[in-house]
Amino acid sequence: MRPRTMHPARRIARALKTGIAGLFAVATLYLLVCAFPKPVFAYRSTYQNYQMWSDQPIPGEITDVLDDVTRRLRTSSLHDREMPVEIFFCNEPWRLWLYGRAFNARMGGVADVWLTRQVFIRASDIPANRILPPGPRPIADAAQRPLSYFIAHEITHSDVSRAFGRTVMLRYPQWLLEGYADYVGKGGDFDFEDNRARFMAGAWELDRDRSGLYREYHLKVAYLLDKKGWTLQQVFANPPDEHELDARLRVNP
Ligand SMILES: [Zn+2]
Repeated sequence: MRPRTMHPARRIARALKTGIAGLFAVATLYLLVCAFPKPVFAYRSTYQNYQMWSDQPIPGEITDVLDDVTRRLRTSSLHDREMPVEIFFCNEPWRLWLYGRAFNARMGGVADVWLTRQVFIRASDIPANRILPPGPRPIADAAQRPLSYFIAHEITHSDVSRAFGRTVMLRYPQWLLEGYADYVGKGGDFDFEDNRARFMAGAWELDRDRSGLYREYHLKVAYLLDKKGWTLQQVFANPPDEHELDARLRVNP
């Protein structure tokens, strides 16, 4: 009789199968936890079309912050004031780490464009309309990026996913997705000519890779929408090549 040993290739295949099944189970559990955050946020508040959850009491000054979010969202041709918006304030870093789906607790906010279109915002000082920086130093461009900027920015990601599909992140360039969210988030607080001059001079803050800021992307979106007169639909239907846009921006007007 032949001994009943398993061929090494079959043993590896079986181990792989078990590993994949385990990973799939963990991923499914994670997605389920992420899709239903409401029970783990103890505090709740509602204002107009904004529904909010938080792990800390929500100060009354949130209405001033949200009025400013509404003002910024008027810059968007996509935003529908009747559409309920769900916002989660994550004062404890683990919440942003978990629900942000990026395993990162340093970002200002994040929107789930794939599934729920919920918005998650980092620890904030709501009465002062500012997010709390992740490190000891204040955030870059703090004056142009109050808490209301971050909320409007993330809501814009959700609006774009509603208009152009849940897989926008796979189908459109980052300069367009982040540039438009920055464009709406800033609500008009953007000096185009000054930013263009800085871009041409190779300034740090106009280089996304070096600064982590979206001003470079904002400049490209503002160029098409405000200077060239494209509609947002036209930009999404046919986004120009980024290098071509760089070259066009560098030509003296
Ligand atoms: Zn963004």
